[in-house]
Amino acid sequence: MTATTRTAVERLAPDRLFIGGEWVDARSGARLATYHPATGELVAEVAEAREEDVDAAVAAARAAFDAGPWPRLDAADRAELLWKLADAIAADADRLARLEVLDTGKPIREAQIDLRETVDAFRYYAGWATKLHGQTIPVRGAVLNYTLREPVGVVGAIIPWNFPLLMAAWKVAPALACGNAVVLKPAEQTPLTALELAALAARVGLPPGVLNVVPGYGETAGAALVRHPGVDKIAFTGSTAVGRQIGQLVAGTDKALTLELGGKAANIIFEDAALDQAVEGIVNGIYFNQGEVCCAGSRLLVQESVVDVVIEKLKDRLATLRVGDPLDKNTDVGAINSRAQLEKIEELVASGVAEGAEIYQPACQLPERGYFFRPTLFTNVAQSHRIAREEIFGPVLSVLTFRTPDEAIEKANNTEYGLSAGIWTEKGSRILEMARRLRAGVVWANTYNKFDPTSPFGGYKESGFGREGGLHGLLAYVRLEDR
Ligand code: ADP
Repeated sequence: MTATTRTAVERLAPDRLFIGGEWVDARSGARLATYHPATGELVAEVAEAREEDVDAAVAAARAAFDAGPWPRLDAADRAELLWKLADAIAADADRLARLEVLDTGKPIREAQIDLRETVDAFRYYAGWATKLHGQTIPVRGAVLNYTLREPVGVVGAIIPWNFPLLMAAWKVAPALACGNAVVLKPAEQTPLTALELAALAARVGLPPGVLNVVPGYGETAGAALVRHPGVDKIAFTGSTAVGRQIGQLVAGTDKALTLELGGKAANIIFEDAALDQAVEGIVNGIYFNQGEVCCAGSRLLVQESVVDVVIEKLKDRLATLRVGDPLDKNTDVGAINSRAQLEKIEELVASGVAEGAEIYQPACQLPERGYFFRPTLFTNVAQSHRIAREEIFGPVLSVLTFRTPDEAIEKANNTEYGLSAGIWTEKGSRILEMARRLRAGVVWANTYNKFDPTSPFGGYKESGFGREGGLHGLLAYVRLEDR
């Protein structure tokens, strides 16, 4: 293990479940191991929650919600505590970013962005705690009719391994701002920063049981949380396949549900675009976080007249990307999160070659150990190719062409997903027209992967439903009561 790796691990404190304000072992005594994707080395072992531990966590959250101080606290006091939590995360950001790198394999520079966005999310939602207004309604008669916004209760939050802390923050921050209690299940590959979040929350005074963290596998701990009758809402980010299963389990119950699932986003370049800027945005859109991003711009639609020049520029830029040690601040593309994910990428890339697309990979040296994959560009891609249809969740870009705006819309929308899209053109009227016609929850123009806690994010079609971020992300954690 490298010196940097060791230092970060030595300072790793929590390695057990956090339930009812206590660090506890799993009832079964089970532990799960996490490995650094860039070396394959063991990072840590933590307690592995199973159904009986999830039961205990839900019971603790239930007690905290039904009888504890948190939902009854003055909103201003909840806001202050969330702000303190944001400060505590900010103060510990360097260490947390390193832990995130060890668990995920993402480049440290990008982990630092995650940390900034995590702090932003807590600060933003801290502000909302005091602004959960109801309304007065002018009904007929001498009647006072008003609405209240009340917390939904116990929230089960299930998060993926690509942005472990940030995805936790997107759920925990609005849930807590509204006065809910949370049981957070991080992905089995990346439990460390969720446990750290629990430790920081306890340190700044969050009452016991308000935030419980239960690392464990999806089919055991995750499914137990989804099925649990004591849970009032499930907030899930992950694959479309698992999202669909969760939807089926929740159907017919009184649980609220938000799903943030997969994507196959199109980035569309028109011939009048500022091409250098567009290429920079396309590269950021697909190679950021090794492409392990639900809104990754994995399909590039280029207007035919500029396709050759765009591909040349892309190849030149790919050749400059530094692939390697994610703890090195100069690294652009880190390690793929797991062997399983690497194999999935390799299989889909092989299908692209077999189906007749043309592959380009820069001749960069990959580290000998770890799960690395070269940034990859496919040209001559047909819409029917698997690489143009399936979510790869890796650093692989498929280039298709179009002649007219109508054809671009038709191709961009020709997917079962609908999370995001990008448009590159200098023509303002074209941006507005395309933005209206693209069937995607988020449309960026002349930029990509731009996130802000004030802005809602979420999908159409098989990319899920509900929104995270902004006011809409907040309203997913309250019930409207009419009095
Ligand atoms: P990925 O393919 O990106 O790993 P998953 O959808 O499998 O995405 O995982 C996202 C999260 O969902 C993880 O926390 C995982 O443990 C959890 N999960 C996986 N399967 C289930 C399931 N059947 N029920 C509930 N949660 C699950």
